[in-house]
Amino acid sequence: MSERKLPITGGCACGGVRYAVDGPLRDIITCHCEQCRRTSGHFVAATACRRAHFSLLNESTLKWFTAVPGFRRGFCSQCGASLFFEEVGGERVSIAAGSLDQPQGLHIAAQLYTSEAGDYYALDLDVPASTHGVHNVKLPDAHG
Ligand SMILES: [Zn+2]
Ligand SMILES: [Zn+2]
Repeated sequence: MSERKLPITGGCACGGVRYAVDGPLRDIITCHCEQCRRTSGHFVAATACRRAHFSLLNESTLKWFTAVPGFRRGFCSQCGASLFFEEVGGERVSIAAGSLDQPQGLHIAAQLYTSEAGDYYALDLDVPASTHGVHNVKLPDAHG
């Protein structure tokens, strides 16, 4: 991770939302739960960072949707990109991996809620899987 240049940047398809991360990113976790399937159209692949390292460079089209009380999803109201997931006031921000400016050198380290996965695709048998939300992928806590 030390080779990556900071800040890391990314954004939605239309540019109405742009963000920067001035710190390390967690490896990617995929979530196959029904909520993620329905909001993404497939399944969610997300990295995460500490809130203290996260900043919005452009939020002109950013909207938040309360998925579950206390948790919200951020999306672009113009191009429809699904971008963020967070516990309100929590210590981390999850970021859709596909919205990162490339390259980042991350890889998928866990897959969650595999019991709710769509029946039209195969799970990657080489990636640790949980039928629920359990994983041990750590969020790095210092600059790389
Ligand atoms: Zn957009
Ligand atoms: Zn999910």
